[in-house]
Amino acid sequence: MPIAAAALRAAAQTPGGLPARHCVKVQGIGAAAWSSAQATCPGFLYNAWMPTDLARPAGKIRVGVSSCLLGQRVRHDGGHKFDATVAGLLAGCFELVPVCPEVEAGMGVPREPVRLVRGGGEVRMLGLSSGKDHSEAMRGFASRRAAELTALGLGGYILKKNSPSCGVTGVPTCTDDGAAAAPDRGLFVAALVEALPGLPLIEEDKLVDAALRENFIAEVRAYSASSGKSG
Ligand code: SF4
Repeated sequence: MPIAAAALRAAAQTPGGLPARHCVKVQGIGAAAWSSAQATCPGFLYNAWMPTDLARPAGKIRVGVSSCLLGQRVRHDGGHKFDATVAGLLAGCFELVPVCPEVEAGMGVPREPVRLVRGGGEVRMLGLSSGKDHSEAMRGFASRRAAELTALGLGGYILKKNSPSCGVTGVPTCTDDGAAAAPDRGLFVAALVEALPGLPLIEEDKLVDAALRENFIAEVRAYSASSGKSG
């Protein structure tokens, strides 16, 4: 049964003390109800409050996203890392452009997990057990894909934390002999930052914080407006 917009509104606590009429809330609904609610009130945040002005954006800015966060089964073990905030709230605010660098670079599913290894003045992406070096293939792909994404006029990017490809900062890195080394960023993100130096980036775990989430949304809108790519 479709969920009426009125049924999504309630008079309890709301984010930032906003009047309830400016917010929607949905809790614990199943897949069918999810679809109905999306149609009724695009962009609602599953199981949480959200301002309706975010639910009904005037324009759709393109934002890149690590595919696994949208539930796509692209991880090395064939799994995903579905994130309700990304799939719910931010999919309503933005046109999400999913990218899985490792799959698009031809590494396949399932595949051997990789890690970042620092040595000889560079950081390489190596197979966890085999030691196979994916660095050149990933850097080549990342550079080409970053150019394509630049042409799409992205306003921001949401990335999977700690990934050797997608992590923005603090990705675990080791030396050739397995000792801990200074953390780095994922190889795909390094190419992205080089192609689009000012692009707002955020890792998915930050989005649960309302202030950080709203700040990211504001940054994306400002970046997009300043580069004339909104809408
Ligand atoms: S973190 Fe990035 S590379 Fe890894 S599965 Fe997700 S999208 Fe693919």
